[in-house]
Amino acid sequence: MPDAPDPTPSLDAPPRPAAERPKEVFRIVARAEEDGHRARAGVLTTAHGEIRTPGFVPLATKATVRGMLPSEIRDLGYDIVLGNTFHLMLSPGAEHIKERGGLHEFMGWDGPIITDSGGFQVFSMGHGTVADEIKGRTKGKGLRGHGRIDAIEEQGVRFRSHIDGSKQLLSPERSMEVQAALGTDLAVVFDECTPFNVDREYTARSTERTHRWLERCLTFHEQHAPDWQLVYGIVQGGVYQDLRVEATELVASSRVDAVAIGGSLGEHKDQMNEVVGWATAALGGAHERKPRHLLGIGEIDDLVRGVEQGIDTFDCAMPTRLGRHGMALVPDPDKRWRVDLNQARWKTSDEPICEGCPCPACAHGFTRAYLRYLVHTKELLGMRLLTQHNLAFVSRVMQRLRQSIIDGRLTEEAAAIRGGIMP
Ligand SMILES: [Zn+2]
Repeated sequence: MPDAPDPTPSLDAPPRPAAERPKEVFRIVARAEEDGHRARAGVLTTAHGEIRTPGFVPLATKATVRGMLPSEIRDLGYDIVLGNTFHLMLSPGAEHIKERGGLHEFMGWDGPIITDSGGFQVFSMGHGTVADEIKGRTKGKGLRGHGRIDAIEEQGVRFRSHIDGSKQLLSPERSMEVQAALGTDLAVVFDECTPFNVDREYTARSTERTHRWLERCLTFHEQHAPDWQLVYGIVQGGVYQDLRVEATELVASSRVDAVAIGGSLGEHKDQMNEVVGWATAALGGAHERKPRHLLGIGEIDDLVRGVEQGIDTFDCAMPTRLGRHGMALVPDPDKRWRVDLNQARWKTSDEPICEGCPCPACAHGFTRAYLRYLVHTKELLGMRLLTQHNLAFVSRVMQRLRQSIIDGRLTEEAAAIRGGIMP
């Protein structure tokens, strides 16, 4: 039987306005520069709406923030989500999503979406392999399933899909092509995510390749992507100050709309803060109006420090992943801001996760005893409630940081958050 014809569009449904390139991408509304801070509060404008900064970006890796409705993400105070180029190109496929109207339409989220480049995922499939290649050792076997890297070439990375073993190429052009097909608001250029345990020589060579790939990404994007899709360049350079500063200058001076800081940020938090500080210092002056994203960082103390250093947006799996594993965020800096509801000690606890928290789990009065039971029996509701709570917690921290920059009291507010004070 032939397919039924499309129903006539309803007259009361206004046509969706065509996406437009914003006239002003990033507007700084306030700064906090006391105590050596470089913090700013701003508004990042995209074709699908505004993002208040500093802000956190929840992960919708496979076109869903797991277990959450788009409206729930919005209600928790989020303006934007992050989709994953690597995963979506393998399943269900970028062209498949394009045929369904693009990623916004496909997943029912009409706000801004950023996609990463896939660089981090493809390289983390074989970090051993990357270092091995340079050091002339035999190839590694990859980490999971039959997904593995076959070759890292100037053209791109050849790998086998972990889903069906099919041969794939992820290159600067392919990554930008996928992101253009997904129709996301913010695309990220394809880079080589420099592994942690490599030396300066490797890092320098890898960073140079990332810069050649940056140029190819921008050229492809200018020719094929919608003009309203904004582009983040990625700063690599490992833990070497001269390489980081050089990379920051080069990326920020290129034709990118915004700058993301990626790659190995060091062994411990002090080193990470130092590395991020090199980059944000180099992003002052002429580059100041370019929004800055810190890739893959999201622990509470890292968010506070990052904001002080002048980072505008962050993404991280932490709040949602912890939630699915029975861990809840709480204002307890000594316990890494978390409580493990898998533990039997909560079996008879009448406490909520967090007194005064407005999230559905706490506001409804669910006890730790009940949540512990849900987590223990792997009930879906437990994962959902803890995901909501954790996202609400991070959202409140970001809102406090943003407001305190606007009100000129960042130092005080940052100290309160670090001290575990949640109003
Ligand atoms: Zn809560």
